[in-house]
Amino acid sequence: MTKKALCAIITVIPLLLCFGCAKSGCVYYSKTFFSMDTVMEITVYNEREERANELFSLCYDEILRQENLFSVSVAASDISKLNASGGESAEVAPETVSLIEKAVSVSELTGGAFDITVYPAVKLWGFYGGEHNVPNRGEIADALTFIGYKNIEFTGGVRLRKGMGIDLGGIAKGYLGDSLKSLLEKNGVKSAVISLGGNITLVGDKPDKKSWSVAVRSPFSQDEYICRLSVSGGYCVVTSGAYERYFEKDGKTYHHIIDPKTGYPAQSDLASVTVIGEDGCLCDALSTALFVMGKEKALAFLLGREDLSYVLVLEGGEVIMSDDVKE
Ligand code: AMP
Ligand code: MG
Repeated sequence: MTKKALCAIITVIPLLLCFGCAKSGCVYYSKTFFSMDTVMEITVYNEREERANELFSLCYDEILRQENLFSVSVAASDISKLNASGGESAEVAPETVSLIEKAVSVSELTGGAFDITVYPAVKLWGFYGGEHNVPNRGEIADALTFIGYKNIEFTGGVRLRKGMGIDLGGIAKGYLGDSLKSLLEKNGVKSAVISLGGNITLVGDKPDKKSWSVAVRSPFSQDEYICRLSVSGGYCVVTSGAYERYFEKDGKTYHHIIDPKTGYPAQSDLASVTVIGEDGCLCDALSTALFVMGKEKALAFLLGREDLSYVLVLEGGEVIMSDDVKE
């Protein structure tokens, strides 16, 4: 599905964010993929059609390679191997070890609000494969005994305690965005947008050399955006929100971002968190963590981080954002 058109304001599937390239009359090609349970779209500017297709093919190979390493839904992935290792040390790719180390570093930064060992709870709530389900207190209490990033042991490979499991769903798309950005840059691409669900990575300058314009979706209505951001090339814009994945049971809504301390969907006063920075992997993990932390703790964290910009949308609709990305 390759298309060619004048650049105007472009809406990115699935309408989580959109970006624009003004009325510069440039040519672009886009390709949509579905992987990691997410609609992904890559757009390259000012490339020949044949070259654009080669680039899409390289990107797709990378997407599949990472899905086969990191997905809990792929039986032979490193993560599935690790989750089935029954307390033994598992041999996994050095890249998998590095990504788990990075996840643990964000756990430490965020006082455990980000914790990939939340997997037993994510599974209980049925956010992977199985039916959505409201677990009883006993089941949650059992799952909690297996949650704790401090029990991940690095042995050359990785060892989890028996019963533990990990889920890279809160960080893997950020990592993939960074990898695809490097891949496109290495292949000489000067201008591209990588959209992985709620994650946007901007490669190089917008064809008209102005800043990219990224719209942050409203957490209250999927067809509206809540603000627009002015973002430089090389940066990544990642949003986490309760609206992204949820189910309803007996009039209550349960979403997919779990508070590792309770095992329940995080009771946040935030409706969505957007983090903007150069390290997409970090931004992805932080957007999840800051959602769990809630407004006060998230703001205190962000005020100490000059390398990051942010948009916090409060449950009541108020928007708090850093000045440097205001359009
Ligand atoms: P995101 O959409 O990036 O906010 O990531 C949410 C996904 O990360 C969920 O669907 C789970 O797979 C996983 N997850 C949920 N809660 C947490 C948490 N507190 N820390 C790390 N990963 C989580
Ligand atoms: Mg995340």
